[in-house]
Amino acid sequence: MMPDDTLSDSLEQFDGWVDPLMSADKPEEACGVFGVYAPGEQVANLAYFGLYALQHRGQESAGIATFEDGTVHLHKEMGLVSQVFNETILSELTGNLAIGHTRYSTTGSSRAVNAQPAVVPTRLGKIALAHNGNLVNTQTLREELLEQNHNFLTTTDSEAIAWAIAEAVNAGSPWVEAATHAFKRCQGAFSLVIGTPDGMIGTRDPNGIRPLVIGTLPQESPDDAPRYVLASETCGLDIIGADYLREVAPGELVWITDAGLASSRWAEQSQRKLCIFEMIYFARPDSVVHDESLYSYRLRIGRQLAIESAIDADIVIAVPDSGVPAAIGFSQASGIPYAEGLIKNRYVGRTFIQPTQIMRDAGIKMKLNPLKDVLAGKRVVIVDDSIVRGTTSRKIVKALRDAGAIEVHMRISSPPVTHPCFYGIDTDSQDHLIAATKPVAEIAQQIGVDSLQYLSLEGMLTATREDTNEFCSACFTGDYPIAVPAPLKRSKLMLEKAATS
Ligand code: SF4
Repeated sequence: MMPDDTLSDSLEQFDGWVDPLMSADKPEEACGVFGVYAPGEQVANLAYFGLYALQHRGQESAGIATFEDGTVHLHKEMGLVSQVFNETILSELTGNLAIGHTRYSTTGSSRAVNAQPAVVPTRLGKIALAHNGNLVNTQTLREELLEQNHNFLTTTDSEAIAWAIAEAVNAGSPWVEAATHAFKRCQGAFSLVIGTPDGMIGTRDPNGIRPLVIGTLPQESPDDAPRYVLASETCGLDIIGADYLREVAPGELVWITDAGLASSRWAEQSQRKLCIFEMIYFARPDSVVHDESLYSYRLRIGRQLAIESAIDADIVIAVPDSGVPAAIGFSQASGIPYAEGLIKNRYVGRTFIQPTQIMRDAGIKMKLNPLKDVLAGKRVVIVDDSIVRGTTSRKIVKALRDAGAIEVHMRISSPPVTHPCFYGIDTDSQDHLIAATKPVAEIAQQIGVDSLQYLSLEGMLTATREDTNEFCSACFTGDYPIAVPAPLKRSKLMLEKAATS
């Protein structure tokens, strides 16, 4: 995530790829993965639409690899899915199976070479791998693999996984055995979709930190072979008319071929730990988790927030879009009318064009424009899903006051983010997290609100209506479900740094 005032830093880091709207002051998504095994279909087009639906999970690069009689066709570039592909490119991506990826970089810098799928050769033909998550043992795994002279093209953990599979294949194992062997060498968060000349593999790490679901395309005749889809979220199935079958279980490997779907376990049953931030913010509200849309969960946390932090006010508004369901829930439970107070410009994405100084000074209005008619003279409750650095919150509050709001009360539908994520979400290092360094009263003062309250950890977890142990909430608690090696911890945790300096 980039701070607002370091455009030159961001230019360097992002290799010329600049977001003129500046950081949204949110944890950045890791990636979206998609795979389709559908002989006879235009698999690249299906992957294109699947990635389109998963665009919110990563906007830096996109790629699709297709498999056709042992040949891999690959196209990947920096940019949004709609910028990277056109009809001509898609028409050249022929085959029976497609693997797609949309990326936000968490390991490896944001450069075209690091775009996925990662393609590596093996004795049985090439594989194409798409990864969502982050390994915590990348360095060790890379060093082990480099000793075997593998020809790394990138600095990504994803390529390391691909080479680990290739190594096992080249040692004589068939696909599933090789993949199983490689997955056992990986520690951390990984939801993977992998294409091979013989079929498609899907898997999740033993804790299931990142989501991955299975769908089926409708059969034209009962004799047709089943055609399967793998996607980070169910919205990736809906867009192509695929039916949701089930999620890939943590530690499960699915092997999809002409013979159908075969399932095996490569890891002992572990405690499930789905990232709670997927529930609160990352995944699309229309995606289904635990048999209900995340919109319903987000309504509930909004209601819970209203119960925990009641306030006398005239209207409830949201920071669009992610704060909307919780704001509606807040309104329902509090009886304070819901209104639209900020209008989002939906059609500005990443661009190479740098904003002028005047535009930068306009700040948040480039992205969110306040509605004066709605806000003037009102006591406003504004609901957001999280605060990471606080820089954008401050600008939003100022914009509301400039539009005439007489009181601004901020309510956050998650607890304070106090710890960084090591499992594939860029929440920045701990010293940049405002709640890691300041108590709530001070944050309120810094962002300029009349009051600020966060949802409790218990409120967030019990609203899932699932076993509360089944979620990772380490960025709120520091209780990391997968051990993080000390050097990696030191890179992001200021307390660890202090202890070793
Ligand atoms: S640390 Fe936070 S963002 Fe990372 S996986 Fe756990 S809950 Fe999700």
